[in-house]
Amino acid sequence: MINTYILLYFLLKQYNIDMAVAQRRTSKTKKGKRRSHHALKIPTITFCPKCGKPIRPHCVCSYCGYYNGKKILNI
Ligand SMILES: [Zn+2]
Repeated sequence: MINTYILLYFLLKQYNIDMAVAQRRTSKTKKGKRRSHHALKIPTITFCPKCGKPIRPHCVCSYCGYYNGKKILNI
């Protein structure tokens, strides 16, 4: 059985097509700098003043439908 990548390589070679190759390997510093934003953050939680359930700040409460003392959603 012929490997698909080997087949592709010979096919590209036949038509003089070069595949993209990285110029140099990515340094540890560059890799670390890129990944410095990858850490997961704990979402901010506040409590609804109407019902006291935990909600995201500046969002309508999904339990009682209130926002800023007004009823927004009919739940
Ligand atoms: Zn609520």
